[in-house]
Order: sequence, then structure tokens, then C-alpha cells
Amino acid sequence: TRFTVDAEVIVAKKWLLLPRLFYIFPAMFHFKNIVTYHEELISGTTSCTEAIGFYLNNIEQKISLNAIVEVYKEEAIGKAAFLDDARKNGLPLKKLHGVVIAIKDVICYKEHSLGAASKMLKGFTSQFTATALQYLIDEDAIIIGNCNCDEFAMGSSNEYSAYGPVLNAANTAHVPGGSSGGSAVAVQADLCMLSLGSDTGGSVRQPADHCGIIGLKPSYGRISRFGLIAYASSFDQIGIFGKQIADVRLLLEVMSRPDEMDSTMMKHQIVPENSKKDKLKFCVFTEALRHPKLDEEIRNNIFNTIQQLKENGHVVEEIPFPLIDYIVPTYYVLTTAESSSNLSRYDGVRYGHRSEKITDDIQKFYKQNRSEGFGMEVKRRIMMGNFVLSTGYHDAYYGKAQKLRRLLCNLTDEIFTNFDAIIMPVTTTTAPLLGTKNEDGTAVYLADIFTVFANLTGIPAIAIPMFSHSNNMPFGLQLMSKKDNELSLLFIANLVQHHKTG
Ligand code: GLN
Repeated sequence: TRFTVDAEVIVAKKWLLLPRLFYIFPAMFHFKNIVTYHEELISGTTSCTEAIGFYLNNIEQKISLNAIVEVYKEEAIGKAAFLDDARKNGLPLKKLHGVVIAIKDVICYKEHSLGAASKMLKGFTSQFTATALQYLIDEDAIIIGNCNCDEFAMGSSNEYSAYGPVLNAANTAHVPGGSSGGSAVAVQADLCMLSLGSDTGGSVRQPADHCGIIGLKPSYGRISRFGLIAYASSFDQIGIFGKQIADVRLLLEVMSRPDEMDSTMMKHQIVPENSKKDKLKFCVFTEALRHPKLDEEIRNNIFNTIQQLKENGHVVEEIPFPLIDYIVPTYYVLTTAESSSNLSRYDGVRYGHRSEKITDDIQKFYKQNRSEGFGMEVKRRIMMGNFVLSTGYHDAYYGKAQKLRRLLCNLTDEIFTNFDAIIMPVTTTTAPLLGTKNEDGTAVYLADIFTVFANLTGIPAIAIPMFSHSNNMPFGLQLMSKKDNELSLLFIANLVQHHKTG
């Protein structure tokens, strides 16, 4: 059974009716990277108004991709004009002056609607702004809209969304991946310069891979989670989509500023690059690269990259990873447990969907609100979470999974005493056709095998686009580094990406 779209929940795209006067020559604008954009702004060859015009026009042209839920059109145009005036008056450009960013529908933005792609939060408006988003705004970024995703960030194809599925711009018969599918397509299809997603088990890296763009999940605790709707709190992390590593790095640096509202945040600054050396040591897990479910072409391309890296003097070692079969079960036991607790707040009392059926039984009242408000996949996870935490099963499932997580963390620490980075596939296949991904529930979960490892252990990981499959869909590979070493990871990612051209 697949999730059915609730037409009622689809946000009325009223902004479409507004006048188009602001972007008469939208095709003139071309975004290469933030540094070049700023140079062009300073030399006067472009303006923020022109940039916004270009993106608003694209959004309108590509509305059928269903990537953006609500466009903050007037606001974005106003901010662009304000920034252009400030620049003309000689004010220096801040780090993200005029950088056009879209956010996932799980990130709070004061006085803007926030839905988590769920009927549960239909009509809800944020009362505050997420810290990470505030840091972007403080540097003069322009927030253009919020992006479609899987309901409460649970899913892998963006088909579990109350707004309906998102289409992959590389081929609209395919899904973009999930759960941050809308954020990925927003960058892929040039609806914004960069975007934010959230990554609990791969929701930034997997859609980035399916859409042929970069997706970074920082270390756990690198970016404040204050104002990010909680799915599994000990896994969740805001991630970044972009097309250029340098741009992703700049956003990461801006968002990594400390925040006392998130007690799990790292107290220290990002570790500077310490892997800036000519010869690097990589490892690959035998069981991952030789996994029977991994697409043959993906495997071959990764093997070729490894070969090239070796030819260029780097070391790449295959090492055994006997715990591989425990990764997915551990992830799903722990994340469903945490989500069952996190999602208990949606009871329809203070906020959330409230049933129209009248009852004077409080239990029935909660049941009605939650049964009507949540979609099928979210309900499944809440039930699984309650099961693994229930009396008599707690030790057998939740307790055991916690122990496995500890083992995985110890193993990871050991690996990084020896290696600079781990090379992994991002996922088992390229983007599947719409309507096919969720046919077999457990198979969907198993496809998360290569991404959830980084969330279980808290290390940073990045998906970089590199190849085109014979089915014409893009894919790349994943790199992971030691916790807190994002800058080294980005340096290594840049190096590996350039190996493809020799
Ligand atoms: N596919 C994974 C899941 O459904 C990843 C979700 C995520 O990272 N938000 O749990």
C-alpha cells in the first residue's frame, strides 16, 4: 500500500498569481559559485534582484517538479532590492550577501508555515527561527522558500509526503530520493543556489546522489539542532546541498557557530584541515563494496576510482567490516525508539491536527487526532519504536542496539587512527522509478546500509557526484572522515572528485 496524496493539504500556490515585473530578462543570470557571484555584484555585472528574478522564473517554469512548497516571493524580492541598495551605498558584502537558499520543511522560520510534509502540521506557523537558519540570514542570505520532503523526514524517495511526490529533474519519471528530495531538486534544477536538508540516516547524501549534486552531513553536534523538527535526536543533523565544494564549506562555517540552545553541540570550532597532504590513506569495507545488493555499475565505477587513486600514489586498503549486517537493524531500532518519543508531542492539544469528531474520552481524542494526522510510514515507525521500548522487549532490542552502537563507534575510532577517509557507495542503486521504491518495506530500509553508519557513529560524510549510469541517471560516491574533521573531508572530496578527469 502506498501513501495517497491528500489533495487538501497541498499548499495553495497563491504566489503564482503575483505580477512578474521583476524579472524581465531572467536568462541573463548565471550562477557559478559564491565567490564569482560576489565579484560580479561588486563589478556591477549582476545584482541580487537579477539573481532572484532568475530563480523565481525557474521555480515557476519548473513547478511540476513539486520541489518547493511555498515560495517567499515578495519577501525575497524585497530583501534583494534592500541588499542591492546597501551595496550601492558602499556597504561591504557580508559572507552570504544575496546567496539564494531554500530550506527543508522541517526547519523553523519565524512567521512562516512549517509542515514537515504532514497533515499533522497543516496550517502551523513557526514561532521562532532555527539557529542555523538565523546564522545564514545574519550573513544576508536570501531565503527563497521551503522544500518538499518525506513526512517528518522518514523515507527514502520523497513519496511519503502530504504535498505529493517530488520529481527528479534528471528524468521526471524517477524519484529524487529522500527524505530531503525537494531540497535536492531545488539545487539540481537551479531553483536556488544552495539548500538545507536534514540527515538522520542519509536524507541529504542519498537524494544528492540521486540528483547528481553534493550533499554534506556534518558531524553530529556540528550545527545547532535548535529549530529543527526532531526525528531521532541523537542522529539528526542539518545538512547542505550545493554544486560546489567551496560553497558548501562556506555555509558549513557560517552555520557551525556555537549555540547554547543545543546542549549536544560541540563547544569547539571546526578542526582545520589536517589531511592537506599529497598522499592520503583511504579504506573501503570489503562487505560494503562487495555487497550483493549493490548495482554492478556503481561497484565498477568505485573500483575504477580506487584504481586511479592508487595510480596517483594514494593508499587504498580493503578492510573487513564484519558488523555490516547489524548496521541497518541497529539504526532502525534506535531511530524508531527516539521518534516514538519525539512524535508524542503531536497530540492535537496545543498544536497539530485536531479531529472534527467529537468525543469526551481523552484517550479516544488523542487517538483520533494522531490517526488522522499522521501518514502510514510515520505510524509504522511510532509503533515500531513503542515496541522496541516496551517492557520485556527493551533489553532485547533497544538495549542491544545501544551496545552495537557503542561497538560501531569504537571500531570507527580505531579505523581513523590508521586512515584519512573511508570510501563507500552512497546507496545501492540510482534513483528508482516513481511508485516502485516503497513496494517492499524492508528492502527500502536495507538500502540505507551505506549512509546510516555515519549517523550511528556521528562522523561527517559527504556524497559527491561523479558518474553517469548507462540508465542516464547520475551517481557518485561517499566519503567519511573522523568526527569533527569536516574541513579535511571537504579537501579530500575535492581531490577525489578531480580524479575522475585524471
Ligand atoms: N531513509 C532513512 C529513514 O527513513 C533516512 C531518513 C533521514 O535521514 N531523515 O530513516
